[in-house]
Amino acid sequence: MKVYLCLGSNLGDSRQLINQALGLIGLLPDSQLLRKSSLIETQPYGNVYQPVFWNQVAELETRLKPHDLLHRLQEFEAKMGRVRTIKWGPRLIDLDILFYGKKILNDHDLVLPHPDLQHREFALRLLRELIPSFKHPILNKNIAELYKELQQKETK
Ligand code: ATP
Ligand code: CA
Ligand code: CA
Repeated sequence: MKVYLCLGSNLGDSRQLINQALGLIGLLPDSQLLRKSSLIETQPYGNVYQPVFWNQVAELETRLKPHDLLHRLQEFEAKMGRVRTIKWGPRLIDLDILFYGKKILNDHDLVLPHPDLQHREFALRLLRELIPSFKHPILNKNIAELYKELQQKETK
């Protein structure tokens, strides 16, 4: 299955941490890291009073099941020193699953596609580099369309 991950960090040496996380993700069993978007500096989302973020999107081919993948990613976050504080607070590393193929899921611990994706300029911008014509399985619009729509909303 093709999976799109969003990596984020706004504490420590963020760019190095994202690179380190990509290294770990590349070693996941039954998986192969295929492509990466650019790594960009972004303004904090949600809770704005915190350092700027660095974000990157990775395309992974994997045979891991969605929950197994989530648990592996959470292990990496913990291993890399992430401490949970307030919602949308500062973090050393954040590993979110944006898409797991076209799978739709609404479990208490895993929602697919990521439920807030269409409101996040940085996530859409980075996804657009890799899969502009990939159709969101719920919204039925592709990434380029969702990005354009959000930009139009934001400039209103
Ligand atoms: P957001 O998910 O809005 O970006 P966040 O990344 O700051 O917020 P976390 O504290 O990292 O939130 O994660 C909260 C919970 O989200 C996790 O415990 C995880 O089980 C759950 N979760 C649900 N859907 C996903 C997903 N698609 N990818 C990663 N975690 C998810
Ligand atoms: Ca997140
Ligand atoms: Ca997260």
